[in-house]
Amino acid sequence: MNRTEARRQTATSPKPIKRRRRRRAPKRNTALVPGLAPILLMEAEDDHCRYPVEGAGIDMKVCGAPRTEGAYCTAHARICYIPPPKI
Ligand SMILES: [Zn+2]
Repeated sequence: MNRTEARRQTATSPKPIKRRRRRRAPKRNTALVPGLAPILLMEAEDDHCRYPVEGAGIDMKVCGAPRTEGAYCTAHARICYIPPPKI
């Protein structure tokens, strides 16, 4: 291999692939309301809290407690909604 060939090979040789660490999704706060069993999201009625507690996709289970604020029960609304600033 002469000099020109060596340079060409270096220029065309593939760069090493840098592997990035895969970011993990933040752990979900799976706080449950005591005494209530989670229900499938697909079976949740309009008045059920929709806070996700386990599973994903079609098997996702939600809190299921009675809704009090927005889409959530009181306990989960405290986690999900930021109170307005006090003036
Ligand atoms: Zn809830």
